Amino acid sequence: MPFYDYFCPNDNCVNHKNSIEKMHSINQTPKFRCDECNAILVRGISQIGVKNPSKAKQHVENLKKGAEYSKPAEMVPNYEGEETKTWEEAKEVARKKGTTDPDGTSRKLTEQELATFDVKIKEEKKAKVK
Ligand SMILES: [Zn+2]
Repeated sequence: MPFYDYFCPNDNCVNHKNSIEKMHSINQTPKFRCDECNAILVRGISQIGVKNPSKAKQHVENLKKGAEYSKPAEMVPNYEGEETKTWEEAKEVARKKGTTDPDGTSRKLTEQELATFDVKIKEEKKAKVK
């Protein structure tokens, strides 16, 4: 039987940051309770937990909000791999940095290209209203 990593969803619990390994059949989705605070543990993805603790935490956050995990985590705001807090910020970075064309010439982004960020910004704002 495989091991699964579980996390305590309670922010104030000592087990919140620790992953708790539980073994069960792949066909089962048993509920485990936290030894410390008795909260129902949420299942994490062990690979994410090991490589990227912040992603694992985000995963837990998503589970708490009831987001479906089959939907991949939302794209992190970024511009050419540089992560930003918001898409609005990503747009500003894009405006400042410009881009490099495949032939190696650097240039400023056109308004049309910058407008692609607006879609994300709009989504972001909508998500905040919820
Ligand atoms: Zn706990």
